[in-house]
Amino acid sequence: MKNIIIIGGGIAGLSAGIHAQQYGFRSVIYEQHSIVGGQCTGWDRKGYHIDGCIQWLTGTREGTELYDLWKNVGALGNVDIVRLDNFGTYEYEGTTITLWRDLDRLQKELCQLSPEDKEPIEELIKEIRLVQDLEMPARIPITMRPIGEIFKFLKKMKNAGLLMNKAGMISSEEYAKKFKHPAIRYMISAGLPEGFSIVGFIFSMATFSSGNGDIPKGGSKAMALRMKDRYEELGGKVINSVAAEEIIIKEGQAVAVRCSDGSTAKADYVVAACDAKMVLDKLLKGQYKDKKFDMRFASEDYITPSSIQIAFGVKADLSSYPLLAAFPSRPYIIAGKEQNMVSYKNYYYEPDFAPEGCTLLITTINQTNFDYPYWSKLYENKEEYNKEKQRIGNEVKERLEEHYPELKGKITVVDVATPITYHRYTGAYKGAWMSFMMTTKTKSIAHSGRIKGLKNFYLTGQWLEPPGGLPVAATTGKFTILKICKQEKIKVNL
Ligand SMILES: Cc1cc2nc3c(=O)[nH]c(=O)nc-3n(C[C@H](O)[C@H](O)[C@H](O)COP(=O)(O)OP(=O)(O)OC[C@H]3O[C@@H](n4cnc5c(N)ncnc54)[C@H](O)[C@@H]3O)c2cc1C
Repeated sequence: MKNIIIIGGGIAGLSAGIHAQQYGFRSVIYEQHSIVGGQCTGWDRKGYHIDGCIQWLTGTREGTELYDLWKNVGALGNVDIVRLDNFGTYEYEGTTITLWRDLDRLQKELCQLSPEDKEPIEELIKEIRLVQDLEMPARIPITMRPIGEIFKFLKKMKNAGLLMNKAGMISSEEYAKKFKHPAIRYMISAGLPEGFSIVGFIFSMATFSSGNGDIPKGGSKAMALRMKDRYEELGGKVINSVAAEEIIIKEGQAVAVRCSDGSTAKADYVVAACDAKMVLDKLLKGQYKDKKFDMRFASEDYITPSSIQIAFGVKADLSSYPLLAAFPSRPYIIAGKEQNMVSYKNYYYEPDFAPEGCTLLITTINQTNFDYPYWSKLYENKEEYNKEKQRIGNEVKERLEEHYPELKGKITVVDVATPITYHRYTGAYKGAWMSFMMTTKTKSIAHSGRIKGLKNFYLTGQWLEPPGGLPVAATTGKFTILKICKQEKIKVNL
């Protein structure tokens, strides 16, 4: 039985491990952290459980390949799926817009609000509907499918291609100008980084409105732990708190991994399910060049997203507040730049995340790789870094209290995570929590995971298919094992 060493116990590593076990390999996952999950995680603070990831999980619609994949890896278990009826509420100059899951309702309300925007509203809804049927291949990679299936998939992809051609190069800011009503403009572009393509918004709304983007009850950490259980049931082994330090190569082939506990683990295959830049620079010692990654990591056009996440424990029942909200606020400074809005997610639908009668709110402030130098410099002085975290927490708390005066004195817990937090906990490049964003200047090119000149080694995870995310992590993890099966001439019943 051939053995596979998997570096990283995030969703990609767990998916790779589960499929390795299912297809007859022996596998071990080395995870540097004390728990699995990587960026799909959560943590406990003063009686609250702070979810660190899932806003929505694509693949919750039965009958899709991705749904079957999530079921197979145990991600969905037997938990309820939380199906929210809206994707957010935007408040702007006295107007409130709710992004309903029901597109007829959304169109009707937007047209009532701004009859003069009827044409662009109808066009937006049409564009969303155009890609509702789009399905991510999750059973086998397109390239491994019989020709008939490839055509079927390409047919489905046709609409995505049409949308990309039409709107892929239009930024959200630019797209918002089609609308006359300032609140609609705000809804389209608020808080998004400059140059962020409008298709990101359209694809997200299409997934959500088609019933394929929801939340497994219990949140992110619980989902990752279910996948770990599934992996272990299949005979896989997770070694926590041990990092890979070097991939050992003999005659152009990956043969072992040197680990932080001083051990060296031999492998027939090595799968790196962790940050691509760290793998190339550190684990492979910069000895292997990769044109696609080198270009993207060096180019100013390729932006990686990160954020500051501020969790608030509120001593109040907020079930009558919006689920997700965004509103303009008194300006405040983050990483040297002025922010003038607050957006939050209200976890009232997860009563177990807060003590009785209390609610967890999480606000997010977008950051990118370009903000990272600010954070890493600040982190050189831990005292200053912690002070800044505290200041940011208080600034946002004040804005929440200004917007909701009734909450004054009720926000008793404030927990701040920064791009440094994401980097420290997962080794992610500049605190990135997905891979390269869809912007008007970039091409969304997938990577095969193979590094030229290196045999029996595969990269997998969110870096292979921009913009990343949980579905990409899970599918690339599986597909990597299918590629190894092909290499080993193992017949897989698909
Ligand atoms: C705040 C936030 C919100 C998000 N919201 C969503 C969402 O709503 N929907 C969605 O689809 N996605 C979302 N994402 C993105 C999603 O979480 C990631 O794209 C996905 O989890 C990446 O999985 P991965 O396995 O590829 O990488 P990671 O999660 O980064 O896993 C890599 C693992 O490798 C480990 N590791 C790194 N180096 C080593 C080493 N040398 N040795 C051993 N182990 C190592 C790390 O500790 C980590 O556990 C969000 C992420 C964040 C942070």
